[in-house]
Amino acid sequence: MARANKALLLFFALNLGTLSSGQVADQTQPVAVPASVPGQVQPVAPGTRAARAVPTLTLSPGIPQVRQVQYLGNGFIEVAHAIVTVNPAERMKLRVLAQQVVAATFAARPRLNEVDLSIYPAETYAGFGGRLPLMTASVPRSRVQDFGLWITDRVPYDRVWVNPGHLPAYEAPDRVREAIPKVTLGHETSLENQARREGGLLGGLLFHSKNANSPIAALTFDDAPHPMYEPLLLDLLRRAGVRATFFVIGRNAAPYPYFIRDMTESGNEVGNHTYHHLRLPPLSSVKMLGEIQQANAAIERITGEPVKYFRPPGGEYNTQVLAAARALGLTTVFWTDDPGDFQNPGEALLESRLRTKLRPGGIVLLHDNASEMLSILQGFLRAARYRGFTLTTVGGLPKY
Ligand SMILES: [Zn+2]
Repeated sequence: MARANKALLLFFALNLGTLSSGQVADQTQPVAVPASVPGQVQPVAPGTRAARAVPTLTLSPGIPQVRQVQYLGNGFIEVAHAIVTVNPAERMKLRVLAQQVVAATFAARPRLNEVDLSIYPAETYAGFGGRLPLMTASVPRSRVQDFGLWITDRVPYDRVWVNPGHLPAYEAPDRVREAIPKVTLGHETSLENQARREGGLLGGLLFHSKNANSPIAALTFDDAPHPMYEPLLLDLLRRAGVRATFFVIGRNAAPYPYFIRDMTESGNEVGNHTYHHLRLPPLSSVKMLGEIQQANAAIERITGEPVKYFRPPGGEYNTQVLAAARALGLTTVFWTDDPGDFQNPGEALLESRLRTKLRPGGIVLLHDNASEMLSILQGFLRAARYRGFTLTTVGGLPKY
């Protein structure tokens, strides 16, 4: 830690800047947000297929504040996510409304194992990547009674979040996706080239493990957590006995802390994917550092553990990005195997890409909220095991 602090001081000295500490929540002005933003639904990449429509539920009787209830299964369990919007007068009765929505959603589809909900202010609602919700909750069927006690008697319930109102100011995320790690504004240094070519941890960079003899590869998911996909994905990993590294967006982690806890409780690793999912190379060094630092703070507040790994959005980096990560004591992690799940290539193609590229010491890149990924994951995990592969966290790779 002392070394990280020293590197941080050096970073500041080199960049002659200070962090703005006066950022506060700004939840009042509506901001236009793209229909599809990281962490919401997978965007359609040029020339590829549209994402499959996610089924929705109709509540009966209807609840006027409910905008949409989507649900999805992973072959074992089903999870619904209800999006609720309220006007200022209705903010006083969020708990009662939340209970009504959870009950009505379970009633609408008795097979559901869990109902998650996000309540937003109606006047600024702009989708999952827009302004943060007022309140979120995750209610597994077995916890309905506990949730009811929280509503009525204010008994603590660990799967609920209420916006404290002092979170970092809103910034629209960039729509950039992780495709090929790329250096921008210049050329790779010889050290970066060496790290990419030879693998192993070099100068705070990790493209793949140096150890190509053991059939061990890392499994990573970017853009987490998402209130419908996360429980489904974590359930599949748990059933397969596989642990992975999740590169989470800080502004998504903050309102869904219970999913971050679920990750670590099942032995997964939580890495940093910036606070707002911004492309880092165009930013000033100070802003760049702030994005990474804020995400670290959001994660550490939940897990109580220091973050070790970082992945820049879009895989885009330059010397300053690497220096900022190093200054915070983070290893910047790229990947060897990107099957393009965010392009919705079709399940057969996605699975064959994954199987073909899997290699000892490799790092597999997936996105936590791609429905095709969820459909083929179980088959891929089974095929990997059949070939003798162990899929694990970045930290679980043989010492790089
Ligand atoms: Zn991303």
